[in-house]
Amino acid sequence: MGSSYEVSNRADGAHEDAPLAQARIDLAAISANVARLREAAGSAETMAVVKADGYGHGIVPSARAALAGGATWLGAARIHEALTLRASGITNRIRIMAWLLAPGDDWAAAVAADIELSAGAIWAVEAAEKAARAAGRPCLLHLKADTGMGRGGATSAEWPALLEAAARAEATRHIRVVGIWSHLADADAPGHPVADTQVENFRAAVAMARKAGLRPEVLHLANSAATLKLPRTHFDLVRPGIAVFGLSPVPETADAAALGLRPAMTLSARLISVKRVPAGQGVSYGHRYRTPRRTTLGVVPLGYADGIPRHASDTGPVLAAGERRTVAGTVCMDQFVVDLGDAPAEVGDEVVLFGPGDHGEPGAEDWARAAGTIGYEIVTRVGDRVPRVYTGSCAPPSRRSRSRARSAARSTGR
Ligand SMILES: *Cc1c(COP(=O)(O)O)cnc(C)c1O
Repeated sequence: MGSSYEVSNRADGAHEDAPLAQARIDLAAISANVARLREAAGSAETMAVVKADGYGHGIVPSARAALAGGATWLGAARIHEALTLRASGITNRIRIMAWLLAPGDDWAAAVAADIELSAGAIWAVEAAEKAARAAGRPCLLHLKADTGMGRGGATSAEWPALLEAAARAEATRHIRVVGIWSHLADADAPGHPVADTQVENFRAAVAMARKAGLRPEVLHLANSAATLKLPRTHFDLVRPGIAVFGLSPVPETADAAALGLRPAMTLSARLISVKRVPAGQGVSYGHRYRTPRRTTLGVVPLGYADGIPRHASDTGPVLAAGERRTVAGTVCMDQFVVDLGDAPAEVGDEVVLFGPGDHGEPGAEDWARAAGTIGYEIVTRVGDRVPRVYTGSCAPPSRRSRSRARSAARSTGR
C-alpha cells in the first residue's frame, strides 16, 4: 500500500495534461490510404465509407481526411450520420449516400440536405417520394439488389416490382433513380466463389432496370476487399470502408503494409497503478492469472466498457515497459492488468495496445486474433470515454469546428 502511494505521488503532475487513455488518429494515413484505394479503383470513383463514427476514428475528421485523399463520395449507414457530415460543412459538391433506412427516419431532412438514399423495397420508394414532396426537391435514389448477400436489397423475385414502382415514381419527378447497387458477401474470402455469381446477378439486375426505362448513372458493388482484389466488381464507384482506416480487409492473405495501407489508429493508455507482488498472487476477477514469480503488476485504465474485448482476457497483446506482453487475467469493465516482470515501470508510463507497428506495438489485427474477431470490431468499438486525438499533416479541424460537429451530431440524435 505504502509503496504504491509513493509511486503515485512521484508521477503526480508529471503527466498532468496527457489523457489517461487516448486513440491517436493519423489523418495523413487516412488521406494516403484513400489515395492508394483511388489508384486501385482505376477509372471508378471512390466513396469513403465513414459509418459508425468513421469506424471509431471520428466521422467528421475522417471524412475530411478522406476527401483530402481524393474521395469524391462519402458513405454512411444511417441518415443521422450523413446529416452530421453535411452539418460539419461538407457541401453538396461531395455526394453523400446513406443506405440503412427505417420507416421512422427523417427522410425529408435527408433529401433537404442532398443526401442520396437507398431503396431495396417498394415501401422505401414510397417513403422517398413522400420525403421529396415534403422537401420540395427530388430524392436521388439508389436501388439495391440482393445479388446473393442475403441481407438488404430486393431479391430477384422482388426486383421487377421494385423497378416498376421506381419508374412510376420517376414519372412524378419526385424521384430520380441515379444508382443501382449491391453488396458482396465474400470478397474477403480466398477464391471468393460467391462474388462471381453476384457480379453476374448484378449485371442481370442492371439490364432489367434499363429495360424498365431507368437510366442509372452509377453502378456500385465493391467494398474494401473488392476494391483492392477484384477489379471486375469496380463498375463506376467503389465503397471502401475498413481500408480507408488502414486495416487489411483480407488479413488471412495480406497485411496492411502488403496492401500499401497504414493503420490510422493508435490506442494507448497510461499505467494508473504499479506495484510489486509476490509469486502466486492471483490477478483480477476469478484469478484466471497467477504470478509465476515475484513480479511487477501494472494496471491499464481501459476495459470492456471502452471496447477492449473481454474475450482477450489472458491473450490481448500490448507494448508495455519496452516489450510485447499480454493481458494478465480477466479484462474488467474499466481496466486490465499487465505482468511487467522486473522491468522498471512507473505510474504514468505509456502502454500501447495497438497501432501501425512503428515501435513494435501490436496491431488491431493482433487483438482481433486474440479475441476471435475481426479488426473492424476492434477499432469500431473503442468507446466514447477514450478521447480521439488527431495528428497528421492533413489539417485537423479546430477545436471549435469539432465541437460544432459534436453539437450537430447531438441535434441529429446521435
Ligand atoms: C460497411 C459497408 C461498406 C464498406 O465495407 P468495408 O468492408 O469496410 O470496406 C461498403 N458497402 C456497404 C453497403 C457497407 O455497409
